[in-house]
Amino acid sequence: MARPPQNINQDLFTRGGIITEHDPDFCIVRLRMPAGMITPAQLKEVGEIAGRYGVDRLHLTTRQTIELPHVDPSCLEGLLGELEKNGTPLGAEREEVVNITSCLGTRNCKFGIIDSVGLAEKIDKKFFGKELPVKVRIAISSCPNGCESERLNEIGITGIQKPIRDPGLCTGCGTCAHYCREKAIEVQDGIIVLDENKCMECGFCIMPCPFSLIRGAPPEYRITVGGHRGRHPKLGRNLVTVKSEEDVIRVIDKIIYWIYRQASMGSMLPEQLDELEFDEFKKTIIAMVGE
Ligand code: SF4
Ligand code: SF4
Ligand code: SF4
Repeated sequence: MARPPQNINQDLFTRGGIITEHDPDFCIVRLRMPAGMITPAQLKEVGEIAGRYGVDRLHLTTRQTIELPHVDPSCLEGLLGELEKNGTPLGAEREEVVNITSCLGTRNCKFGIIDSVGLAEKIDKKFFGKELPVKVRIAISSCPNGCESERLNEIGITGIQKPIRDPGLCTGCGTCAHYCREKAIEVQDGIIVLDENKCMECGFCIMPCPFSLIRGAPPEYRITVGGHRGRHPKLGRNLVTVKSEEDVIRVIDKIIYWIYRQASMGSMLPEQLDELEFDEFKKTIIAMVGE
């Protein structure tokens, strides 16, 4: 166990975004950057601040944030003050809600279904840093391509969109079937047939129809729970699908409340969910959301 350095502000040193290095006289400072978004000016300033405090390299983490390695803990007060002023404050890395990750979604990606960046910012505002018995990672992918590996997080959110077709007008040209990577569409007797069991609700077949015969249902948000990467990777299980950002926030609120009240320290959330009847957990959360 590393010994804490002396003559430093212990309140700051014990905060979640400060990580002790293998050299116990130094620490790593991790930032809060929801969805990994940062302006060019902020990024430049992070570099300049780091330089002023003797940090010669920055590290980009898997959780879409920046960390400053090899910081002298006696400098924390000044360093954190400057980072806060820059809008890139101290992050979290302990038993708490840590940096929310997200792909660019509808803001920039042509496959985007939901505004994942906006949702990440809302989730960050409400839940970031909340202290819990276990660490909670939340990730969002705007479509089922899952670029954020959201199902490998304790809470994952995926944007989905059901295709709605009008078979009566279909010419059977097969363009939509060509675009479907899941082979969920077949042309039978001149019209398309959708296999709902194969369909991932990615919406990729909507745009290509030359006759605009496939429309997209309103976007939805699929929420998974109990995923994890690291030593024992695990895919999160489907909890519920909801129709709005407000519903997502309500469901997360109930999951966090459940974790706060029911989870225990010392093991990961996925392991704790394994010990429960998942269907019972699911019913509990859905009942709480319905209250
Ligand atoms: S998950 Fe979908 S929307 Fe997000 S970056 Fe990947 S392809 Fe684009
Ligand atoms: S929504 Fe995606 S998976 Fe479903 S039929 Fe269309 S292209 Fe295929
Ligand atoms: S692309 Fe349109 S017209 Fe062609 S098979 Fe699909 S739904 Fe029918």
